[in-house]
Amino acid sequence: PIWPRPSGWVNKITQYFLVCVCVCVCFEGLPTYPDVSRMWEIVDKYHVTKFYTAPTAIRLLMKYGREPVQKYKRDSLKVLGTVGEPINPEAWQWYYSVVGEKRCPIVDTFWQTETGGHVLTPLPAATPMKPGSATFPFFGVVPAVLNESGEELEGASEGYLVFKQPWPGVMRTVYGNQQRFETTYFKKFPGYYVTGDGCRRDKDGYYWITGRIDDMLNVSGHLLSTAEVESALAEHEAVAEAAVVGRPHPVKGESLYCFVTLTDGVTYSRTLEAELKKQVREKIGAIATPDFIQNAPGLPKTRSGKIMRRVLRKIACDERDLGDISTLADSSVVEHLFQNRCCVGV
Ligand code: AMP
Repeated sequence: PIWPRPSGWVNKITQYFLVCVCVCVCFEGLPTYPDVSRMWEIVDKYHVTKFYTAPTAIRLLMKYGREPVQKYKRDSLKVLGTVGEPINPEAWQWYYSVVGEKRCPIVDTFWQTETGGHVLTPLPAATPMKPGSATFPFFGVVPAVLNESGEELEGASEGYLVFKQPWPGVMRTVYGNQQRFETTYFKKFPGYYVTGDGCRRDKDGYYWITGRIDDMLNVSGHLLSTAEVESALAEHEAVAEAAVVGRPHPVKGESLYCFVTLTDGVTYSRTLEAELKKQVREKIGAIATPDFIQNAPGLPKTRSGKIMRRVLRKIACDERDLGDISTLADSSVVEHLFQNRCCVGV
């Protein structure tokens, strides 16, 4: 085995936790149909205590303001969870103050299908929160931050997020393909489980996921995290959601191609475009100034709400061979984005 198997007593503890019971309300459908209060209506109706969703849903609902949330009672709520992608501080604040009325802790849970459970997460109401950080490792989980050469970085640092030892629930193989398991997760840095995500650890030891390593951009030799640029764009009140991808550039290597979905009622204009560029430059630095900004009323997402950046990269480069897009929730947005793509940088 690549890692030691969890021993007998560890499995016993897992079984103990598995017998704890709770009632779950699972919602499948659009959070905006028949109207944008749908989530809160369900919370009110079933007295939901712990509400768990993805940042993409929060950003979508933010577009419509507070009124649709405040129409329904949410006093049953105790904990608000977020998962699936880095949550930008803007969305975090809205979730915390509008949905949770500043009384519910936000639990930003970082995990993967492969990890079988949360690996970085605050303990609700016990861990002091920082908007946008998944905070600290869960019990038994030992993370490390590695540089490109596989060296462990100490203290405040940024690099590859890996784990140093197994825990109950972590995947043990890829069904029928042990070789693939070893290559995908253990080959790049032998002895570590490689998540494929980048992260930053701040001086207080908090972990901040910066996004998939494949989503890093190299602009004139500077490594930029797309999540960081997206967050800077989303801080503008006119922007409900942003997705940033790289487009090859003859001089800089890569340029930043940004898709922005505007808040309900806002119209796209050159003035807004200039403001957005300025905002990113001020928040991150001149190197991150967007080269292209495209107004995107809709973004290509999977049914679980993840933005398909692979498709956005193709749109940015005007390449029509999209490969398999059967997991897209709504494929019509793709054609619309192709028709309105930016040909010249702003
Ligand atoms: P999946 O296996 O489909 O659940 O996707 C796992 C991936 O989602 C991770 O590798 C991360 O890229 C992302 N992810 C999940 N939770 C978080 C989180 N709390 N913050 C940032 N990214 C997350």
